[in-house]
Amino acid sequence: KWTAFLREIERRINHESFSTWFKPVTLHACQGDTIYLRVPNRSYEDWITETYHEYVEEALKAVGCGGARLVFVYTESPEPKSANGLLDDESPKSGKDAFSFGVFDSELSEGLAGARIVDLEPLELPLNPKYTFDTFVVGSCNQFARAAAMAVADTPTRTYNPLFIYGGVGLGKTHLMHAIGHAIRNRDRHMRLVYISSEKFMNELINAIRYDKAQAFREKYRSIDVLLIDDIQFIAGKERTQEEFFHTFNALYDAQKQIVISSDCPPREIPTLEERLHSRFEWGLIADLQPPDLETKVAILKRKADLEKIDLSDNVALFIAGKIKSNIRELEGSLIRLVAYASLKQRPIDIELCKEVLNIEEEERPITIEMIQRVVSDHYGLRVADLKSKNNSRNIAVPRQVAMYLCKQLTNHSLPEIGRHFGNKHHTTVLHSCEKISRLYQTQNDFHRLINNLISSLK
Ligand code: ADP
Ligand code: MG
Repeated sequence: KWTAFLREIERRINHESFSTWFKPVTLHACQGDTIYLRVPNRSYEDWITETYHEYVEEALKAVGCGGARLVFVYTESPEPKSANGLLDDESPKSGKDAFSFGVFDSELSEGLAGARIVDLEPLELPLNPKYTFDTFVVGSCNQFARAAAMAVADTPTRTYNPLFIYGGVGLGKTHLMHAIGHAIRNRDRHMRLVYISSEKFMNELINAIRYDKAQAFREKYRSIDVLLIDDIQFIAGKERTQEEFFHTFNALYDAQKQIVISSDCPPREIPTLEERLHSRFEWGLIADLQPPDLETKVAILKRKADLEKIDLSDNVALFIAGKIKSNIRELEGSLIRLVAYASLKQRPIDIELCKEVLNIEEEERPITIEMIQRVVSDHYGLRVADLKSKNNSRNIAVPRQVAMYLCKQLTNHSLPEIGRHFGNKHHTTVLHSCEKISRLYQTQNDFHRLINNLISSLK
């Protein structure tokens, strides 16, 4: 059961966090409903209960120990870990009933604490050589963020500081951050650059605390020239990490160092991000990445195919691009699957193969403009004719824009074609509508829900 439990945890969190936090944990004893886990020291208990309690509870349920109570046993560390003032020892939060806190068991003493000394990770930069500005395909969905990133790369700290890039999964945030890193580094080898995800930042911070390297941690982060911190949304709710990041941010900002931050949503929408961090993030420029339009998707596929020396015809590229809705990572994934399959089966990459590999059912009922118009007008209590009318009052214009947006997203019709179905509207009107709705979709939660509901009722 213990192994099964660990496996459940491993499935839920990333590999690195798992090795850091769960590998060193061992099962000490079970007594009735109480499970005793042995951990090297107090930090484990804090971090497991604070950061991973939901996963732990899920995993316990999954192995049939839903009601179990966890008790952590460890040997008290000779050094109080808040000695350097980096972290305050918060009292445990209520509401995590599955856990009991602070069991000190001297009988278990094995002198674990302080036995291992680790150095902080070096200031090296694991940049992906493929993620450069050269390989980044531009379209209307990403040109703003790309331009901002290039400006920052050209003249760090003299343009936008911080630069905050946000967008959905797989839309190119990490790619742009690495591209900034490459560009700066290529120009000046001596720039001290750190690219890190906020999760790694947190794990490193914890390690630093655990091994009394907090001061070194601070010095490391405060002595760099450029900080690229990816997926900042991860520190939502992690008060201690936010606190430390806040100080790092200020130190760098005051010293006029460049900071680039990425997130899956705008600063204001990161839940439980401290207000003072919100406003810091808004000091500079906020740039968004939108889901790619069909043309950009085709261009990206062709580009990737070129880079990998894959022969990809236009119509196949168009076919894949039409099927994969939003995410560039998925787009790449399909191409890779396709190529692997083609070479395995010794077959050419054609539409037939695409249909097989990408699991696209032929009989899948395609969504039509008419269906969309019906669903949208029903939802708003309008008539389809209203959507096609010239009436631009708000209660009709907004539903019309929503319908146009859905047509663009869910069908393969061009902007002019869509315009024609809405009472001969100009294609720029359609484009404008799509952009507006896409913005609302990205920034407003209730709108996001509305659109998703409409989409699922269409499917
Ligand atoms: P995110 O960090 O936003 O989740 P990534 O930066 O990891 O997304 O991008 C996912 C994949 O898509 C990467 O392999 C990246 O190279 C590719 N990609 C994203 N945007 C573009 C683009 N505009 N041109 C070429 N490749 C892109
Ligand atoms: Mg990323």
